[in-house]
Amino acid sequence: MVKKGKLSSGKTRKKIIVGNWKMYITDKRQAKEIFGKIKRKMLKVEMVKTVICPPVSFLGSLSLAAKGNLFLGSQDVFFENQGSFVGENGPEMVKSAGASFVIIGHSERRARGDSDEVVSRKIAVALSFDLTPVICVGEKERDDAGKYLSFLETQIRESLSKVSGRFLGKLIIAYEPVWTIGRPFKDAMKPAEFEETALFIRKILSDLYKNEDVLSVPVLYGGSVSSINAGELLKEGKADGFLVGRESVSPTHFGEIVEIVEKS
Ligand code: PEP
Repeated sequence: MVKKGKLSSGKTRKKIIVGNWKMYITDKRQAKEIFGKIKRKMLKVEMVKTVICPPVSFLGSLSLAAKGNLFLGSQDVFFENQGSFVGENGPEMVKSAGASFVIIGHSERRARGDSDEVVSRKIAVALSFDLTPVICVGEKERDDAGKYLSFLETQIRESLSKVSGRFLGKLIIAYEPVWTIGRPFKDAMKPAEFEETALFIRKILSDLYKNEDVLSVPVLYGGSVSSINAGELLKEGKADGFLVGRESVSPTHFGEIVEIVEKS
């Protein structure tokens, strides 16, 4: 058994922070300015990989600036690569625009129709084009009877239904309980709740992938992350990193989160 945070090679795994810009930034110049500031911050950072996911239309103009520990990701990808699919962005398109990661199954896309089946197809196509999928899962609400656990289990099993064990090392799971997204920062998940749920997620992964090394899969936390709660979620919650929404478009606040993770 490999210790958490260590890879089977014995190396310490870098933490991962994914910034999901959603449609918060609508102007290319502003996107470049924010990205430039984040890039300056990242020059001094060694133990954190940061993936910024701007609107897809800005990927190309930011791609040259993504270097070192700073990567670009797409907020979604279509499950076909090419053809008569108006308005969609396939894997090769986002890759050639500069993305090496892709968020798949975000709750805001699931709410607009992405079923577990659609999510599973998107994950499969992303992997086949060598894009790293950041797979979002999370229950809408919690109940005392624990029904949310079977919801989560089904979501994970179905979303990963087309992924074979050889891709395990390529997956990133972002556990984002929907009830914590877009809340006041004090209402992020409690570290102990995250730790317990991340263990549950790893148990599902180890059931699915039997002998594979499930500890190599980073489990990030997402939902109202800020500099107020990041430290305890890392230390007590043992998060492998974060998926950050609102705070990712503020270079100062995002930089503070990066710094907390770097020092953890
Ligand atoms: C999100 O929507 O993925 C998210 C984590 O948003 P926020 O950080 O704003 O809660």
